[in-house]
Amino acid sequence: MRVEVIPCLQDNYSYLVIDDSNKTACVVDPSEAEPIIKYLKDKDINLKYILNTHHHFDHIGGNKDLKRRFGSSVVGFKKDSKRIPEISIKVEDKQIWKADNFIAQIIHVPGHTSGHICFHFFKDKYAFTGDTLFSLGCGRIFEGTNEEMFKSLNKIKSLPEDTKIYCGHEYTLNNSKFCIKHDPNNFNLQKKINIIENNIKNQLPTIPSTIKDEIQCNIFLRAKDLKSFSKLRDLKDNF
Ligand code: ZN
Ligand code: FE
Repeated sequence: MRVEVIPCLQDNYSYLVIDDSNKTACVVDPSEAEPIIKYLKDKDINLKYILNTHHHFDHIGGNKDLKRRFGSSVVGFKKDSKRIPEISIKVEDKQIWKADNFIAQIIHVPGHTSGHICFHFFKDKYAFTGDTLFSLGCGRIFEGTNEEMFKSLNKIKSLPEDTKIYCGHEYTLNNSKFCIKHDPNNFNLQKKINIIENNIKNQLPTIPSTIKDEIQCNIFLRAKDLKSFSKLRDLKDNF
C-alpha cells in the first residue's frame, strides 16, 4: 500500500491510497476530479472507492465526475448521507470498513462539522484527518463546540505515535507561525519549522506529518485542558 499526495484547488490535498498488487485505489477527499484523473490516466489503476471525511465542497467536489468515470463507490458518514453526494457505502463511528485489500477504522470527530470522520488505516498506519487535525493546527469550529473539537483531537492523539497524518490542507507554514509565537522555546517545533520551510521553498508538501511530531509540536494537541484549548482556538481565529 502506498499514498500519493495530489494537490487540488488552492491549498487542498487529496490522497490516493494505492494497492499496486491489484492496481486498485481509493481517493480521500477529491476536491476536484481533474488532478485525480490526470494521475491515474495511463497507469491502469482502477479507482474503486471515494472516501469523504466531511461534506464541504473542497472535499467532495470530485465525487460525481470520478464516480461517473470509474464507477467508484462513495464512502461517507451515515448521519451525513444527505450532504455527501453520491454516497453508497454508509459508515458509522468505530466501524471497520473493509473492501478489497483496504481496511480502515472510522473515527467520528465532530467539531469542524457535526459529521466529520477520520479514516484510520490501522494496518498501514495512515490517518486521514480532513479538516480536524492539520499539521501544527486544527480546523475551525463551524458546527460544534470547543469541547467536541477538543475531544475529537484527543481521539486522534491516542493513535500510535508512528501513524502518518494526512490532512486536508497545506496550512502548515502559517500554522507554524502561530505555534512558535505561543511556544517559542519548543526545540522540537523549531526543528520541524526548519524542515517545513525547506519543503515549502522546494515546492514540496509538508505532509505527511506523524502523531509523534504533532504531539511534540502542535500547540492544540499540547493544550492541557479544554480552557487552554479554547483560548488558543479563539486566538487562532483572529491570527
Ligand atoms: Zn472543511
Ligand atoms: Fe477544507
